[in-house]
Amino acid sequence: MDKGEGALRMEKFQESMYQLIVETSTKLPKDVRRAIAKAKLRENAGTRAAMALTTIAENIQMADENVSPICQDTGMPTFKIKVPVGVNQLKMKEAIHRAIAQATKDGKLRPNSVDSLTGENSGNNLGDGVPVIKFEQWEKDYIDVRLILKGGGCENKNIQYSLPCELEGLGRAGRDLDGIRKCILHAVYQAQGQGCSAGFIGVGIGGDRSSGYELAKEQLFRSVDDVNPNEELRKLEDYIMENANKLGIGTMGFGGETTLLGCKIGVMHRLPASFFVSVAYNCWAFRRLGVKVSPETGEIQEWLYQEGENVDFAKELEKAAQSVPAEGREIVLEAPLTEEQVRQLKVGDVVRINGMMYTGRDAIHKHLMDHDAPIDLNGQIIYHCGPVMLKDENGNWHVKAAGPTTSIREEPYQGEIMKKFGIRAVIGKGGMGAKTLAALKEHGGVYLNAIGGAAQYYADCIKSVEGVDFLEFGIPEAMWHLRVENFTAVVTMDSHGNSLHEDVEKSSLEKLAQLKEPVFK
Ligand code: SF4
Repeated sequence: MDKGEGALRMEKFQESMYQLIVETSTKLPKDVRRAIAKAKLRENAGTRAAMALTTIAENIQMADENVSPICQDTGMPTFKIKVPVGVNQLKMKEAIHRAIAQATKDGKLRPNSVDSLTGENSGNNLGDGVPVIKFEQWEKDYIDVRLILKGGGCENKNIQYSLPCELEGLGRAGRDLDGIRKCILHAVYQAQGQGCSAGFIGVGIGGDRSSGYELAKEQLFRSVDDVNPNEELRKLEDYIMENANKLGIGTMGFGGETTLLGCKIGVMHRLPASFFVSVAYNCWAFRRLGVKVSPETGEIQEWLYQEGENVDFAKELEKAAQSVPAEGREIVLEAPLTEEQVRQLKVGDVVRINGMMYTGRDAIHKHLMDHDAPIDLNGQIIYHCGPVMLKDENGNWHVKAAGPTTSIREEPYQGEIMKKFGIRAVIGKGGMGAKTLAALKEHGGVYLNAIGGAAQYYADCIKSVEGVDFLEFGIPEAMWHLRVENFTAVVTMDSHGNSLHEDVEKSSLEKLAQLKEPVFK
């Protein structure tokens, strides 16, 4: 069999890679669905966590039906490819680049590749180091391609420990299995809800700083249901699954029974002087798939991660529709908002918003600090969101995916901007810090937590795109003027100085401290 240069049909291979990208971005794998369905069963009906999981289930269902991105942050496309000797990797790389650009053009991926110095978005998900493609040769007679789309919100919650170290709540973590145990528990604690919990973690023990992280990410390619062949690590994985879920962080950090959906641990040798524990955190929108491809025809021979039952979320949702309403009050808000309306809101209220909201992320917040706003923002709502948008042939914009982005990045600016322009509410995910909380109190503002990753659910709430400013900042960073209906979020920081995020962080730290005593020798 000739697998030399030119033997692999690149046109067909490109088509196969396009299919893999679209499927990964729009359909969660079966093992991930089962883990989410199990979490849903564990939460008591009527709680905020149950409400968040129902929204997540609805979102998964909509992404399936619309063949649209599960989350608007389609992440860093990372390919791991094993090829038989002789297959031309340079040509494969080119084909993957073309498939990525096409998927971006078709709205299956958000333009996510930004020049680190100029801030310019390449617009097609290509750029220096993007996408990540790692090749390995092997003796088998097929090509194995695995793809993970890991978003920025959870990527920012990755963490690396250098043992020995002191850990908040857990004390000293030494260079042994128990020290490793402490690091992993701490990694889950420090992520809180900011990586769109409930999450999956991959852990790499050993290596150097870069190979340790590499090993941690490698673990995310394991099936959620597999069993670690290393008996010590199997026990550690089981321990972490049981005990991390005692922290009570819950879905989106709203509190609840499920904080972690999966834990996979790998080990490698290290230098005598270094002992790293690296943790890769992945949100519930755990998009990774794989295919076996023919090295001659370039066709997909088999899809990976397909074993086991497929959860039908449509049925799950029928059951949820009959369940009791979420805890706390439910309040309908018509934007723009008055100070009086906002001051009546309290942590735990569920709000349903109608009217206008305006997207704003990092570039806009930075810009508004020392410039005027292009529109009157008095009483308005800012939505921390970088949507996936498509322009039709008549020049009209359509929202393809529009979930919240991590709000804490705007912490240096948020309070000041709210006061300067009279903004009454901000919507995002993961909560904000003390500076914003103080500004909400002083000015009469509120922070609303939307369900992270529920990009289809929220896109459906957007009834029209009524304008856009700052398009020069790139599609995700532009200010989109959106008219919404029945946009659901939870008040997690109010104008009375209360923050659900602070409360959950405090209580989870207390629970973490209960896990301080050594468990493994
Ligand atoms: S679900 Fe949350 S963390 Fe994951 S990619 Fe989407 S916004 Fe980012």
